[in-house]
Amino acid sequence: MIVFLDSHISQSNLDELIRFLKSHGIVYEEIQHQESHFLYLSAGISELQTEDIERFPGVDQVTNSVDEHPAVSSLKDSFSIKINNRVISKKHFFLIAGPCTIESEEQLDKIAISLKQSGINFLRGGTFKLRTSPYSFAGLGINGVEILANVATRHKMISITEVTEISQIEYVSSKIDILQVGTRNMLNYPLLQELGKINNPIILKRGMSSSIHEWLLAAEYIVKAGNPNVILCERGIRTFENYTRNTLDISAISAVKNLCNLPIIVDPSHSTGRADMIKSVSWAAIAGGADGLIVETHYDPTEAICDAPQHIDIDLLKQIVKPLPNLLKLWNKQQS
Ligand code: PEP
Ligand code: MN
Repeated sequence: MIVFLDSHISQSNLDELIRFLKSHGIVYEEIQHQESHFLYLSAGISELQTEDIERFPGVDQVTNSVDEHPAVSSLKDSFSIKINNRVISKKHFFLIAGPCTIESEEQLDKIAISLKQSGINFLRGGTFKLRTSPYSFAGLGINGVEILANVATRHKMISITEVTEISQIEYVSSKIDILQVGTRNMLNYPLLQELGKINNPIILKRGMSSSIHEWLLAAEYIVKAGNPNVILCERGIRTFENYTRNTLDISAISAVKNLCNLPIIVDPSHSTGRADMIKSVSWAAIAGGADGLIVETHYDPTEAICDAPQHIDIDLLKQIVKPLPNLLKLWNKQQS
């Protein structure tokens, strides 16, 4: 049962309601974020009728809902975040590009310059890399954070990098605009909870073997803890198919849009693992209603230390971006 409260409920009315719940042995949790304030009653409610709660002043609505991610479901379609004095909303297309891994300041700077010249404002670059093989290059760590922050500031771009441990969050969130949770950490609930305590937007990648429901529950951990700025990222799931690195679940875009108002972006790079498929898969994602793309891009893909076969060069990225305004116009027209 979910008890939605008036945004202006007085403390004394709330105390009275909570006294009632406690006296009936009802287990509840209070959730409050920018958009809403509600109590999630999880146990001790078998005898309870919605009317028993509705009579309390300051209670807006009581539902017998079985919604397991009420904080995510209660978010309105008004995703809007202020980054570096710029307001980013779902009306903007999140076009994110950059290398898999930051290798040096020169490398990232060179990539950033050409991205910026192509009108791209979001710069990605990994520095805490979770590699499948313990012998693979695992990134520059904290030095990479400095490099990304410097390069993004120099070119007035919005920076994105992955955090892999709770201990990184405080420092990285002070230097980098958007934090990413990788596919391997979607189920790392303590990490998600800590990311709920900051305000930076979080790109939450779908676990490679996770259902859409599990993915939204992971988002719930972040939103419930106080950070509504979650951007979901479909990056492909594991299937029997091995022509591609993973299988892009294109239907996840539509499913997510049916289930909540969080923005959803698509990662054509990790889903296909193949540079020759990035263009068509990106366009398919846009046609399917994605709110953005995150694409591994390099001035010379063959030089990338990590994930070289899936990097595209800047010229190909420009070809992908060119018809974007028309594709988006078409999509918006279909919706109205
Ligand atoms: C990445 O985007 O750098 C990355 C490692 O992606 P994923 O977690 O989806 O594999
Ligand atoms: Mn990569």
